[in-house]
Amino acid sequence: MPVARRPLVAGNWKMNGLRHSGAELLAMIEGCGAPLAEKVDLLICPPATLLAQFAAEAAGSPIAVGGQDCHKKASGAHTGDVSAEMLADAGARFVIVGHSERRSDHQESDETVRAKAQAAWRTGLTAIVCVGETQAQREAGEALAVVAAQVRGSVPDGASADTLVVAYEPVWAIGSGLVPTVEDVEEMHGEIRRVLSERAGAEAARVRILYGGSVKPENCTALLNAADVDGALVGGASLKAGDFLAIARAYL
Ligand code: PEP
Repeated sequence: MPVARRPLVAGNWKMNGLRHSGAELLAMIEGCGAPLAEKVDLLICPPATLLAQFAAEAAGSPIAVGGQDCHKKASGAHTGDVSAEMLADAGARFVIVGHSERRSDHQESDETVRAKAQAAWRTGLTAIVCVGETQAQREAGEALAVVAAQVRGSVPDGASADTLVVAYEPVWAIGSGLVPTVEDVEEMHGEIRRVLSERAGAEAARVRILYGGSVKPENCTALLNAADVDGALVGGASLKAGDFLAIARAYL
């Protein structure tokens, strides 16, 4: 019997947002009552500077907040970095690790991403581990193998549905307006789940796998309802309450 997974629609605000952006979060909270909140988990990952403010604003609402990255260590001489403990202390419940912009801007390896996921678990955060191929890798027919290797390298042993979410984000789809076909997304999500089951056994069937990359209100219905797609990681379209909630409504 297929396992029912509750959808998760997560917003990655990247390096966007100032204190007044709390008004957008309030608009999301106002717009996400029943029946949306009954069917879908909602998450916003603002920049670290806004985390405590957003967590306070969202307290008691259906919207959780999360970080966009964390250091593998709990504290120490790492100027400019933020630890998972700091995120949790600010009110985060999730943290994105291994986003392709971190992998490319900061040369993060699978090993680094795995250590960050372990740091998240150490402090009770759910890790959203991002994976995805480049355009050149897809054109070379290597997409499935590249992503499978990223999952094997980036996901620590002992994952459960409570501690892990995987986000499949083709690098070429992020911020480009391009999206893969539904068939390609389904093939990739099936492969990710198969690789997860090598590591986590039957628990892999409960782990949520999100699609991310240019998800918009106009294209979300087919992508989010594809087989093995359990939600979305949304960048640009998560900055506006109307667009973010319209995407989550793909599940109504
Ligand atoms: C992202 O960076 O996680 C993302 C999915 O961005 P966008 O939706 O803007 O493509």
